[in-house]
Amino acid sequence: MVSATSGPRLRDVNRTAILALVGRHGPISRADIARRLGLSPPTVTAVTRSFIEAGVLHKVDDDASRGGRPGELLAVAGSAASAIGVKVAAGHVTGVHADLDGTVLDTFSAPVDALKANPFDALAELLTPRIPQGDQPTFLGVGVGIPGFVDTGTGLVQAQLLGWKRMPLADYLSQLVGVPVLVDNDVNTLAAYEHLYGLGRPYEDFLTVTLGRGVGAAVFSGGDLRRGGHGAAGELGHLPVDPENGLPCHCGRRGCLETYLSDEALMKQAGTKTPEELKKRADQGDKEAQQVYAEAGRRLGLAVAGLSVVLDPQAILVSGEGSRAWPHLAVGFEPAFTNGVFPGFADRISVHVDPWDDAKWALGAAALVLRTPFTFNADPQADAVRSRLAAFSLEAGA
Ligand SMILES: [Zn+2]
Repeated sequence: MVSATSGPRLRDVNRTAILALVGRHGPISRADIARRLGLSPPTVTAVTRSFIEAGVLHKVDDDASRGGRPGELLAVAGSAASAIGVKVAAGHVTGVHADLDGTVLDTFSAPVDALKANPFDALAELLTPRIPQGDQPTFLGVGVGIPGFVDTGTGLVQAQLLGWKRMPLADYLSQLVGVPVLVDNDVNTLAAYEHLYGLGRPYEDFLTVTLGRGVGAAVFSGGDLRRGGHGAAGELGHLPVDPENGLPCHCGRRGCLETYLSDEALMKQAGTKTPEELKKRADQGDKEAQQVYAEAGRRLGLAVAGLSVVLDPQAILVSGEGSRAWPHLAVGFEPAFTNGVFPGFADRISVHVDPWDDAKWALGAAALVLRTPFTFNADPQADAVRSRLAAFSLEAGA
């Protein structure tokens, strides 16, 4: 087997750059690739030929509208690569096996006690039989979404809800299952899903906001996820609102945004036992229930407007199970957001609600891996993902 890293480093950079360009802007002609990357046409021809022979890229006919001889365009083949994504919650994991264009090949879920001293062996046992053996289609790795964050410097995972403190999840799990493993905050993985397959496709700058048991956010800027200097960017639920007199938050402080907006907070305010009961009451016209949502929407609108003033996103994508009550939340959100953003910007920032679907979180974890060939993420596990794709295509194209 030819290893991609055994060859000259420059060749790897060119291959990644070409794949990234075709992945994000394809279908595209070889001439355009050469021009946009400043590469010689023979280099582009040689690299794309090996990708085509490996089934990573395929030829797409140009539409005849340009006139003259139809040009040959190249696009990434959806079936060229696949990955497994899993979302880890406190009591269970849900997973998908999906290929490059987001086609779901398999789904699974299982109870896993994340609070156990070492839950990773159980996770590996669940994953191992699902990892395809052999080369076709190219299996790139496993993505894991967690309700926590990954420290940028050390790669160690912190997830309070799972009782995980400084866990070397990616490296440990990767050794157990024998393929690259990428780990990220679950809201980040949802944003990865939106950018690759969902409502975020038209945008390079957007915010994903999730509502439900907690309140979360992910920042997509310049076409990539922003994780911040320590990996903890997007902790919208812990925006301080009233740190002196507010209610206690599970993070240990008081008056965080989440203490006003979480399912639990809304149920307490309305005196209902479940989020469904609260929504049903509001749907049936109960003024008190509607007022609880409107006030929550107002607080969310103010907070998201504040983020928008700072980050200037093209769009806000609202998701999570709590978004099912969006028509009630919107009553308070819309005026607060419109009046809170930079003057004149309310019409320029689209607000979309992505209907909640648990499978999107797992697909997002797979997207974390599947988008890696199109990015320059310097993480060693991401390098390993790119090497696998490059190695398979080098082998086939040799
Ligand atoms: Zn908090």
